[in-house]
Amino acid sequence: MEYVEHVVDLVGNTPLVKLNSLTTGIKATVLAKVEYLNPGGSVKDRIALRMVEAAEKSGELQPGGTIVEPTSGNTGVGLALVAQRKGYKCVFVCPDKVSEDKRNVLKAYGAEVVVCPTAVAPEHPDSYYNVSDRLVREIPGAWKPNQYANPENPASHYHQTGPEIWRQTDGKITHFVAGVGTGGTISGTGRYLKDVSDGAVQVIGADPEGSVYSGGTGRPYLVEGVGEDFWPEAYDKTIADQIVEVSDADSFDVTRRLAREEGLLVGGSCGMAAAAALRVARDLPEDAVVVVILPDGGRGYLSKVFNDRWMASYGFLPPDSTGATVGDVL
Ligand code: PMP
Repeated sequence: MEYVEHVVDLVGNTPLVKLNSLTTGIKATVLAKVEYLNPGGSVKDRIALRMVEAAEKSGELQPGGTIVEPTSGNTGVGLALVAQRKGYKCVFVCPDKVSEDKRNVLKAYGAEVVVCPTAVAPEHPDSYYNVSDRLVREIPGAWKPNQYANPENPASHYHQTGPEIWRQTDGKITHFVAGVGTGGTISGTGRYLKDVSDGAVQVIGADPEGSVYSGGTGRPYLVEGVGEDFWPEAYDKTIADQIVEVSDADSFDVTRRLAREEGLLVGGSCGMAAAAALRVARDLPEDAVVVVILPDGGRGYLSKVFNDRWMASYGFLPPDSTGATVGDVL
């Protein structure tokens, strides 16, 4: 019989898929690491497992404990999966702007979701930050992973994502491209690839226009899961050789092309990272091997990047391309 003991055992070892259509005119090989094939649907399954196991070892998380984290997305799913396997409770705190669908995904895995008003200042007692801190103080046995500052976040990529890529490319990788959110992926994977190649692998960060990593002030952008308005501890500023700034328009254009031309239905931060990878690959020779991380799947974004009306409402598609027919109310 061929089976795994638990779905959590399937975290990691995601495949590399060659990009064919988007790379027309490019001589280098561009390979996408498809993280939506993790059981929770994103790269964050990796960090969830390692952060929880480290907290068990250090005693911060005890049997029957509760994981409390302000997250509405992929990290929550990863933590909920691991918590279920190991018998912990999960309480996630998210702002009320987070869609009901996203909250329901977390509840479906058995987590409790506490919703906070978006329209209050960070110092207000009902703010997202204050509520999660209060819950950690009030719930007995509560532990907050804090992915932004937890060293196990980059460590999971140093010990797993990096070695996978090195092995899968037979050591032929020349350039590594990843979007930067907490910075865990690029810092851990990038550090490993630099160490194992004696510094030969070039590490490129992709960042939304307006975010701090590419020199912005944190002004708003629409792509989700990447970019910041502060410098997280999980981000190692010494790793990236280059940061490529990508506009929302380019991120969403490449996201849609990944689905339509490569069969990869992925999220907007994947389009952003792929746009940066293609820009880098354009100037590279035939023997270059570029690996780009695609962090999650596209199903969570069907009402945004894959919705023509949403795209048109932000000017990413012309108003006459919304697919509306006579009689539709736009
Ligand atoms: N894309 C998505 C969709 C994410 O959720 C995240 C994590 N915030 C990232 C990219 C960036 O990864 P990291 O936090 O490791 O920098």
